[in-house]
Amino acid sequence: MSIAKQIEAVRATLREGVELVAVSKTHPVEAIEEAYAAGQRCFGESRPQELKAKYEVLPKDIRWHMIGHLQTNKIKYIAPFVAMIESVDSVRLCEAIEREAAKCDRTIDCLLEIHVAQEETKTGWNYDELTAYVASDAFRALPHLRVRGVMGIASNTEDEALIRRDFMALRAAFEALKPAFGERFDTLSMGMSDDYPMAIECGSTSVRVGSLIFGARDYAK
Ligand SMILES: *Cc1c(COP(=O)(O)O)cnc(C)c1O
Repeated sequence: MSIAKQIEAVRATLREGVELVAVSKTHPVEAIEEAYAAGQRCFGESRPQELKAKYEVLPKDIRWHMIGHLQTNKIKYIAPFVAMIESVDSVRLCEAIEREAAKCDRTIDCLLEIHVAQEETKTGWNYDELTAYVASDAFRALPHLRVRGVMGIASNTEDEALIRRDFMALRAAFEALKPAFGERFDTLSMGMSDDYPMAIECGSTSVRVGSLIFGARDYAK
């Protein structure tokens, strides 16, 4: 199926109000142009330099989401234009985003990435450390970060009960943090190609779908 057809097919399964972030990492500009022609405007990438290179040649009404682990020294590549950084997972990163956003005179929308999966390797905050930080004065002193919600990745497993448990844990964290932020805290980003329908059942407001739209990725390229 073509990229346009796949996007239509995925959209048809989304509940009203759920945003589709088309994850285009490793795929060429031409693939993104095809999705753009089909009306897609929000794309997710995981490498800052790749994101910047694509931004420079593609239409400026695209909203770019950074979804991969971000090193502090690479924020500068994306700070001037990125629509949202979904993968905010440490105090150091919060502080570095604050500095880079201030330099560009921007306030950057961010999601707090929370670790819920079983795998040790997955990135994200430990929930207790996050709640302590959110309650601290240090956290309140970040005027160029606009925290919009929570992002997370479920365990990489066939066990649907486990995946559901991870999504419900993210939902619970989202609900628990919301009062500290208020109305603007409206985004719960969870669900990828293999598990997004369940993520929506569990309350996701934003799904990050890559391979289902663009096909398998070749990381060697
Ligand atoms: C790559 C990636 C996705 C998309 O994964 P697919 O399985 O291809 O849909 C979603 N979220 C994050 C954080 C990713 O790194």
